Amino acid sequence: MTAAAPPAPIVRFAPSPTGYLHVGNARIALANFLFARRHGGRFLLRLDDTDAARGRPEYAEAITHDLRWLGLAWDDSFRQSARLDRYAAAAERLKQSGRLYPCFESEDELRAKREQRVRQGRPPVYDRAMLRLTAAQRAAAEANGKRPYWRFLLSGGTEGWDDLVLGRRQVKLPSVSDPVLIRADGSPLYTFTSVVDDIETGITHVIRGEDHVTNTAIQRDIFAALGADAAAIGFAHLPLLTDSDGGKLSKRLDSLSLRSLRADGMEAQAITAYLARLGTSADPEPLELPALAATFDLGGFSHAPARFDARQLLALNRRVLHAAPFAAVADRLPAGAGEAFWHAVRGNLDLLNEARGWWEVAAGTVVPPVIEGEGGFLRAARDLLPAEPWDADTWRLWTDALKAATGRKGRALFLPLRLALTGEEHGPELRDLLPLIGRARAAQRLEIAAA
Ligand code: GLU
Repeated sequence: MTAAAPPAPIVRFAPSPTGYLHVGNARIALANFLFARRHGGRFLLRLDDTDAARGRPEYAEAITHDLRWLGLAWDDSFRQSARLDRYAAAAERLKQSGRLYPCFESEDELRAKREQRVRQGRPPVYDRAMLRLTAAQRAAAEANGKRPYWRFLLSGGTEGWDDLVLGRRQVKLPSVSDPVLIRADGSPLYTFTSVVDDIETGITHVIRGEDHVTNTAIQRDIFAALGADAAAIGFAHLPLLTDSDGGKLSKRLDSLSLRSLRADGMEAQAITAYLARLGTSADPEPLELPALAATFDLGGFSHAPARFDARQLLALNRRVLHAAPFAAVADRLPAGAGEAFWHAVRGNLDLLNEARGWWEVAAGTVVPPVIEGEGGFLRAARDLLPAEPWDADTWRLWTDALKAATGRKGRALFLPLRLALTGEEHGPELRDLLPLIGRARAAQRLEIAAA
């Protein structure tokens, strides 16, 4: 008999719509996506939108837009706000089993208790005073207009698991406060809703950031309290990102949102290629998603925080652009820019937005500087411009003629021409640009630079 194949994985990316996605979130989404693709599994998008005070519909929309832009297509999606009845039913079960207990302390009371414990040199863990509340006391509180919020009674002992990224992890539950799972207004919190959903959608692997390690211990306890087998789920926590000096990335997250990177002209492919290997020993390569999925391995991530280096991302972007076919960028180029233009300039771009400047050179009005002392040479160059039509040979024919007429060569020959024709000292091959610029513009620019 052959052993049954393991079931195809089901994973989820579960953003809270409280802000725009940044590179840190995108890395988690990507890890889930690549893991699912690598193992022939399913990738779900779950919007954790039960926090009415902080969540906003426009963020939810922006998140789905960003994920689509990255190419991270999900197999199914849902919102937690549509499943409130499921959370209420699960909460009822925990109340019945005595694992969810009502609490009435205010924020101020809790703070005072925490401060007192700290003064006494004890860990600031919730003291479970409300567990001892009698039915009469509860009735009195409710008669006073107070509505309870609900805490989960954590079991004692240590929760441990073999993390698929970090290795063996253990959290001592007595060092953690019983978490609030239901607010006084009846709305459920993420800690709880996530477990209910993970159970009911058959999640096999939870892949998320290292900031969730303590949550994992708590949530494994909730899994068990709901009768599910947390041991059957794989947990993987990716170490957080730092900036290139090892400091916190959080200060820069606004500029590292996907929407602002997109506005800067960064390619989705560069972002996914960079993030897929960030924190592993593999070098980033400008690969597309299927190729990234083929080699994706959670075991390849380091346990140490990963340094996000914007220069490396830009270097990868350059490589993606240099290899990009015209079709991949056509609808983002200036109107009229065709394939010949793209092939002429793509090797000179860090960001696609820079193509705009070269389009001005090729087809717009660029006013070159007057190049001191070069008037005679530039006028000779203008007079020797060949007749149209122009092609990839025109540059060579023209400069050969100029060389013969003026005796110049090398930099002395080429630099004034480049400066006059483009207004820049560096740029794409003039052999490719010249036919795009055309005779009329070339003649005019040579004259201006000669004046
Ligand atoms: N909404 C949670 C967050 O954004 C999801 C964490 C998880 O993957 O369970 O942090």
